[in-house]
Amino acid sequence: MSLVIVSNRVAPAKSNEPMAGGLAAALLPAVKTSGAIWVGSSGKLHDNPRKDAVPEITPLGAGALATIDMPAAHYQGYYEGFANSVLWPALHSRMDLIQSNVADYASYREVNAYMARALLGFAKPDGAFWVHDYHFLTLAQELRKLGIKRPIGFFLHTPMPTRQMLAGVPHHRELIHAMLAYDLIGFQTASDRDNFVDYLNQELGLEVVGDAVASERRLTRLGVFPIGIDVDMFASRATKAVTSHEIVRLRASLAGAKLAIGVDRVDYSKGIANRVRALDQLLQTDPTFKRRVSMLQIGVPSRDAIDTYHQLQKDIATLVGEVNGRHGEVDWTPIRYLTKGFSQANLAGFYRAAHVGLVTPLHDGMNLVAKEYVAAQNPFDPGVLVLSEFAGAAQQLDAALMVNPHDIDAMTRALATALAMPLEERIERWEAMMETLQSSSVQAWFTDFADALIETRATMVPAMEPDQIPVPIRAPIGERAIAKIH
Ligand code: UDP
Repeated sequence: MSLVIVSNRVAPAKSNEPMAGGLAAALLPAVKTSGAIWVGSSGKLHDNPRKDAVPEITPLGAGALATIDMPAAHYQGYYEGFANSVLWPALHSRMDLIQSNVADYASYREVNAYMARALLGFAKPDGAFWVHDYHFLTLAQELRKLGIKRPIGFFLHTPMPTRQMLAGVPHHRELIHAMLAYDLIGFQTASDRDNFVDYLNQELGLEVVGDAVASERRLTRLGVFPIGIDVDMFASRATKAVTSHEIVRLRASLAGAKLAIGVDRVDYSKGIANRVRALDQLLQTDPTFKRRVSMLQIGVPSRDAIDTYHQLQKDIATLVGEVNGRHGEVDWTPIRYLTKGFSQANLAGFYRAAHVGLVTPLHDGMNLVAKEYVAAQNPFDPGVLVLSEFAGAAQQLDAALMVNPHDIDAMTRALATALAMPLEERIERWEAMMETLQSSSVQAWFTDFADALIETRATMVPAMEPDQIPVPIRAPIGERAIAKIH
């Protein structure tokens, strides 16, 4: 079966460039080995309203990248508008940051329809589509309108917030109802799936029976597929990096201080400011840590055309400056703050050199940096992962030093504990986490989802006649519900 993968942006074809984020990092190795075609935006815009996409194809291992130019009239409203100023904050439970307008929603729908037309060129009689992330909640509905009957799956890389949060999204019923045109919807964790089930039940009056929900003429299966990393690749990159010029320089510059590392896109969901405050408090309350610890924070600028992000970049730079000014010495700086991206080969070396990995998002779908940090450690002298309990990764990596990222006191204590943790305990925790990572690699994630997608259709659709579809037991709440059940 041929698989067409769809996401807003595809990964850079060259391996020495930084990844745009966790989604790109996860899909790249899988596309290379599976032979799938990965379709996404080229990053270029065109302003011909009548023009539809002509993809540019680049081979990628056994598979290929297909990039398309996006419509200039709608891209901003779709990307910076509805996707990243409405859906992203809502999915990360930051309703206070939602900025919505009706034109952005219209653009979002337009771009989904545009992408559906572009995908027609890739439809094969034996093919399936696998759509990624919140940019394309309504893509399956558009593909169905164009007559596509093949299996279409969707994976949400972000958290699925509680029903109450989701109900705060403008047009939420229309959007979630459109999602039921997918055959399979995958989530990072069981609580994400449970939130979605609760929403379907309470807001649309739909009953989930087993792992499936019936709506109109379709059954949609819901599943949990925690995304992984290529563990062996990260481990071997980290081993190689030990002797690289950059890592030798980094180690020498530490002059015996222990390194704590944070690697994030600059995003309000990542909790970077609280992490800096925790280091500030550690140095304030116990000045013996001065010169004994340094933080390397990589903060890759992201979505900076959106005011909230632009302001956040400034706020973090200001905070880092204050902490460095307060505690720094002429020959020692507490925080090295780098606002640029690095290749994963370089990152692997940085992770390996760091005694502590600080992964403390306020809310995160999974967080691949947490997994990469663990995979990159020296088995005989591993570092300590300090992990937010609100990252999806916390559901799997329970041997990490778990913290509440809102509690600066607790984070300060966790940082001190991590810096002092004896070798035996570090090895014990690391081995437990590595075992989990090995058993849920990105390769396994990819195959599990693709298999479930094929199986969904093979077992359910041919046997299903409209009058056989189970109807929900509860009626939709009030007149607002738009779910139409036959
Ligand atoms: N990354 C990178 N270069 C950088 C910073 C990050 O290649 O300078 C990669 C990192 O290795 C990871 C991804 O970007 O694979 C970030 O994924 P994560 O799930 O942690 O967060 P997201 O950005 O998707 O919210």
